[in-house]
Amino acid sequence: MARAVRNTPRELAHALWKGWRTRPSTPTFLRELTLLPRLMARRDHGGLLRRLERLARAGIPLTVFVTGSFARGMGDWLTECRDQGHEIGAHSDRHLALPWIDPAEARRQILRCRDEVGRVVERPIAGFRAPFLLWTEPLYAAVAEAGFAYSSSIYGRQAERHGPLTELPVVFEDYPHLLAGAGPADVARLLAQLPEAAVLCLHPYAFFSPGYFEALLEALRTAPPLRPLSRRLADPSAPAWSITVDLA
Ligand SMILES: [Zn+2]
Repeated sequence: MARAVRNTPRELAHALWKGWRTRPSTPTFLRELTLLPRLMARRDHGGLLRRLERLARAGIPLTVFVTGSFARGMGDWLTECRDQGHEIGAHSDRHLALPWIDPAEARRQILRCRDEVGRVVERPIAGFRAPFLLWTEPLYAAVAEAGFAYSSSIYGRQAERHGPLTELPVVFEDYPHLLAGAGPADVARLLAQLPEAAVLCLHPYAFFSPGYFEALLEALRTAPPLRPLSRRLADPSAPAWSITVDLA
């Protein structure tokens, strides 16, 4: 059943800040104005890949959403990520805030990323995630038309049907907690509060924050079963967590 997208004020403020900072008209130096770990993640793709491999080896398959522009520039990286066993999803073509651009252009952004990411990964792409988790209801039609099986583009606790699509909402995002200076114990405590069926949106640059990655691995050892998102479609409310990261 379709319903309006609802965000908490904190999530909305976060999404708006990210949307403003990365819109095309924002000067580059402002777009780059961000946390040091983010810069490290951007410069150290090899390091990020090694961390993703550690997660795969620990039995933690991720769903990695990438933009079309990332797929064009980072093809080898992406196929290696796929070969590690992670699911690859689409994250629009150029990471623009889709509700804020012309609807025809938003549709092109969705179709193009499907083609570009699918071409590199050499398999159909089942999942779509909106940039910044900024979303409006009419965009579901465009995502369904593009042939995706699911979307993970809003905040929420329950899976929803939107025509042929399943929406698997994000219940947890780590970035705001990092801003507040959370340490390893906080990571574990926050994860312990999550429901049994949950989609977690983790930020790859957070993996470079001191203590965070080890704390995450430790906390996930006692988590519900970990599944890539497409393996949750048969029963989205079954106890399982999906760990997702987005790359633009
Ligand atoms: Zn993103």
